[in-house]
Amino acid sequence: MAEKVLVVGGGGREHALAWKLAQSPLIQQILVAPGNAGTANCGKISNSEVSVSNHAILAQFCKDHHVGLVLVGPEVPLAAGIVDDLTAAGVPCFGPSAKAAQLEASKSFSKAFMERHGLPTARYGSFTDAQEACSFIRTADFPALVVKASGLAAGKGVIVASNQEEACQAVMDIMKDRAFGSAGDTVVVEELLEGEEVSCLCFTDGFSVAAMPPAQDHKRLHDGDLGPNTGGMGAYCPTPQVSQEILQQITESVLQKTVDGMREEGAPYVGVLYAGLMLTKEGPKVLEFNCRFGDPECQVLLPLLKSDLYEVILNTMSGKLASSAPVWHRDSSAVTVVMASAGYPGSYKKGVEITGLSQIQDSGLQVFHAANQGVASVGFPGAVYRRDIAHRAIAHLKQHRGLTYKD
Ligand code: AMP
Repeated sequence: MAEKVLVVGGGGREHALAWKLAQSPLIQQILVAPGNAGTANCGKISNSEVSVSNHAILAQFCKDHHVGLVLVGPEVPLAAGIVDDLTAAGVPCFGPSAKAAQLEASKSFSKAFMERHGLPTARYGSFTDAQEACSFIRTADFPALVVKASGLAAGKGVIVASNQEEACQAVMDIMKDRAFGSAGDTVVVEELLEGEEVSCLCFTDGFSVAAMPPAQDHKRLHDGDLGPNTGGMGAYCPTPQVSQEILQQITESVLQKTVDGMREEGAPYVGVLYAGLMLTKEGPKVLEFNCRFGDPECQVLLPLLKSDLYEVILNTMSGKLASSAPVWHRDSSAVTVVMASAGYPGSYKKGVEITGLSQIQDSGLQVFHAANQGVASVGFPGAVYRRDIAHRAIAHLKQHRGLTYKD
């Protein structure tokens, strides 16, 4: 019998997951909780109001509605143990356990883990005392510093300081003024890494890893990588700056090593593992781990996945990844442009009407991965978006392969 799947979350990532799952002939219905306007009554996809924070209620709902699989988009429910609780209740749930999700939920844990297993990453110190953190900053033999709240802070808990004074101020903001609440009870102070940032993700069954094509997010608000940091203004995939050799190196020395280390430490990691990396002069170094698909990276990865996502997930959950690696569209690429409301990433207007969506669907584009041509016809008052997503790839291809690029 065809399956019913519940996707937890409500962003572009979850829209992309539901869209990809809907292509599986094995799936009859997809519920998204809470979902968004894009996942409301769209073919096999509809939204559900079931509580995802109360795991007992969620488990009962899944049993009552014959949900055969739960797929979790965001990190907060994973860190809160949604996989542990649903699995214990007999509801299959894809993603890492709370213990394994510490790789993202505690930067202090992930840095110590990387140190124990010899993974390439920035030098660092971890502190629960503000004075000790400041003494470390004053005596550190690396000039530029990054100060991070150790816990989950919705991507906001990282301050890149230009001198020691700024770094100490960041420690005070995080630990004394509690700018990120309890996420800042512990801080990580680390060396600033220079280079280009890339995202390398894999599916893993706890033993094998199946690397996805490399992707690149664009965190700054404005063209030319200017303006404040955001949750991501666009992404593209694959990233030609990450050659096949570099991807192989990252797969072996970061992804596989992490999965082996977690298993050896009694916290086997099953799900999607995301390594945020800096391509430094000394080679790729880990900036952070995420315990799930990134957003917007998910929106460019899934259109390139040739395999049935549902089958990939089942193979991953049953430890069969080594014998059934996912297949990707190797000769294609994908770009996603995020359109944000005016004022973002500060305070911004919500509920502004979006127009032009039906024309987009008719043109064969997907709203979560529309190109500039698409963006021009979708709109709302005050929409902010970048026009240069993938500019680093274009520069790289021009330099290394003599590509001539026409707009
Ligand atoms: P994280 O959540 O740790 O990935 O940090 C968020 C962002 O801060 C990253 O995507 C980088 O742009 C930046 N960042 C974090 N750590 C460093 C570092 N050691 N050196 C330079 N930039 C960093």
